[in-house]
Parts: sequence; C-alpha cells; structure tokens
Amino acid sequence: MKSACCLGLAAACAALAARAEISAAELESAVASIEPRVVEWRRDFHRNPELANRETRTAAKVAAHLRALGLEPRTGIAHTGVAAVVEGKLPGPAILLRADMDALPVTEKTDVSFRSTATGEFRGKTVGVMHACGHDAHTAILMGVADVLAGLRDRLPGRVLLVFQPAEEGVPEGERGGAPLMLEEGLLDIARPEAAFALHVGSMLNTGRVMLRPGPLMAGSDFFKIVVTGRQSHGSRPWKGVDPIVASAEIVSALQSIVSRQTDITDLPAVVTVGAINGGVRHNIIPDSVEMLGTIRTFSEAARADVIERMGRIASNVAEASGASATLEMMPAPNPPLVNDPALTGWATRSLERSLGADAVTTSRLLTVAEDFAYIARAVPSVYYWLGVTPGGQDPAAAPDNHSDRFYVDEAALPVAMRSLLGLAVDYLQSPSRPEPASR
Ligand SMILES: [Zn+2]
Ligand SMILES: [Zn+2]
Repeated sequence: MKSACCLGLAAACAALAARAEISAAELESAVASIEPRVVEWRRDFHRNPELANRETRTAAKVAAHLRALGLEPRTGIAHTGVAAVVEGKLPGPAILLRADMDALPVTEKTDVSFRSTATGEFRGKTVGVMHACGHDAHTAILMGVADVLAGLRDRLPGRVLLVFQPAEEGVPEGERGGAPLMLEEGLLDIARPEAAFALHVGSMLNTGRVMLRPGPLMAGSDFFKIVVTGRQSHGSRPWKGVDPIVASAEIVSALQSIVSRQTDITDLPAVVTVGAINGGVRHNIIPDSVEMLGTIRTFSEAARADVIERMGRIASNVAEASGASATLEMMPAPNPPLVNDPALTGWATRSLERSLGADAVTTSRLLTVAEDFAYIARAVPSVYYWLGVTPGGQDPAAAPDNHSDRFYVDEAALPVAMRSLLGLAVDYLQSPSRPEPASR
C-alpha cells in the first residue's frame, strides 16, 4: 500500500514535470509571435547603425526592451555594453548568450527600403556607416530571445545571462572595448555561466542552415608592424648607404617561408600577410627606413607564439645580412583563436539538429577571420556557429560577403536564428543529457 502510494506520488510528480517542460512547439509559437517585432527592430538598427564604442542609441533601445520585460539590465559595460539575467523560477545552472551591436565604416549600396544613409567618424574622416556584418540582426535576434525566455521564466530552470556587446569589429585608435573589456569589467560576475553560445549570420550559407566545428573554428588575429632601418643615400650611389627597401623586399619574401617551409601544415594552417609597405618619397633617394604593416592568423596559442618568434628572427636576421636593422612590434588587442568546446559542440550539434532539422547542420571548415567572442570562449566552455542568410535558391558562393557594401540578410533567417538559440538555451537548462561542464 505504502509503496503503491509512493509510486502514485512519483507518477504525479513525473506528470507535473512533464507538463512543466518547455516544448519545442511552445518555443516555435513564441518565435512566430515575436518575429514581426524582431524584423522591425532589425530594420531600425539597420537604418541607424553605429560604429564601435559609439553604440549609444542601439544600447538604449536594448536596455529599454529588457526593462519592459521586467529585467534589470546593467548598462555602460565596456562603454555601451548591456547585460541582463533572465532568472528562471526553477533551480539550474547559468548560461550566456551573446550578440554584438556595432556597425562598420562602409557606405551601403543595397536597395533595401531601410538602407542606411548614416555617416560617422572613422580615423578622422567622415564615412558611411552600415551594418555590413549583420550585427543589427544579432541584436534584434537576442532581443527576441530575451522576450521569449522572459515569458517562460516560471518554468525555466537556471538563469540566462544575455550579453549585448559593443565593438566586436575593433575599437577606434587609442580606445579599448569589446568582449575583453566586458570581461575585465566583471561580465561573468553578473551570473557565473557554465556554458556560452553565440551565432554569426553569414552569406556563405543559405537560410535555414548552420555550420560549426569542435575545437578551433576561427583564427586568432594579430596585427604587426616591422620597421626596417637603413641609411639614406642618393639613388645613384646605393653603396654609400644601406638600402632598407631591398632589405624589406627580402623580408617580405622570407616571411612567406614561415607558412610554406616552417609550419606543420598537416596540423593547423597559418597565414602571414604583409598588407602595407611604406618607404621613400622620390625616385632617386634611398630612404632611411621602411615601415610594413600586416596580420597573422593562427589557430592555437602555441602556433601564434611560434609564428611571432619566427617573424622576429627572420626580420632582424635578414635585415642584418645587408647591414640594416629591423624591429617587429605586435599591435595591441589581438584576438585569440576562437575554440569551440569539443564536448559541448557535440551536444550543441544534436540540439541544433533537433531545432532546425538534421540536414540543416553542417561541419564548418577552419575560418581565417577572427571574432572577439574568442575571449569569452577562453573563459567559459562555448559554442559559436554560423547561420546562413542567403535566400534559398541563390548561390551562397556568389552572394556579397560579410563586410561588403551589398551584404544582405534574408529576414527569413531571423526566426531560424531565434529557434536555434532558444533550442540551445532551453535544451541545456532542462536537459539532463547536457555534457558535464568542463573545469577551467
Ligand atoms: Zn565583421
Ligand atoms: Zn561580425
């Protein structure tokens, strides 16, 4: 009798728990009802883009929306960043969802009705400003996700830290910002997340599709300056001086041997690019010095350190061979490689397959672009994925790339994005099958 009663109670509890579970169908209908507002927000942000560390209007709109949901956003993190916690009424862990808010110094050339005609100041010049990387979509998507999660608070286990980040694209000279500054200013103290998720819209995939990979996904990026110093002389009598232009040409060539001859290409690739070379003013004057600017891309901290060490050695020794000298300076604010937590990525792939369909999820190749979410991924086990925004039926390979003045976001991708993020968040918080949090 007693055991039957316990069994009855257990069954009742189980039934209650089953009833309380947030279902995919429920998320789907919540997404459908918020979708028109998400489109509206995205168009508003698109028409009013703001450059890095200047996202005041965007941040104010985000904060107002979060307050209207009954949340208590913290504002002004890393200048214009906004963060808020959706507190579920049921016990559970904390997770982090992140969107970035900044636009780019690009003059828009699309013909959408909400095209940007905004201008801003970039390196002392007035420039067109455009959401050419789709961060307008990211911000609107996370506002929609916030809306749905806030509506489910009573049955949501755990807490969701929503992060609206400024300055992903890099800061104006002399300033700091973005993900590393948000972390420094205590972002993770707001709610200690045990997992973090973020997405990026990309033209390389059709709407409805996503791609990701475990381990390194996007490169670490570093910017460098090499100054080669020789001795000025008349262009007709080079033996009277030391020619830094010829030495620089040899350095540029020799730097290419780091990737082609000195890197284990069966492990991870690397890129060394010299993007600017400046020296001299006149056809018959050998200048005193030459300055070169460039970038390296690597997929692990060890590879990064190795490439930098080889660059310094090559620059100084090649210069020395002709009697010149060279210095290598690494610029501040590099991005580390963005590394997806392998176990969490395996789990997230299954969640994405559930919310978007098994065919929707593909494995990404390594991407040599960088992303400052890498700082968050270094602090919290994370999954970052790309979400297609090229309309179905169009060839993604022919679509204008992110950062292009014709970059186009198919708005049919906005509900797909919300479904994917909500699926990850709700699956993680209420699924006992999620991977054990990695200890870091
Ligand atoms: Zn970008
Ligand atoms: Zn971006």
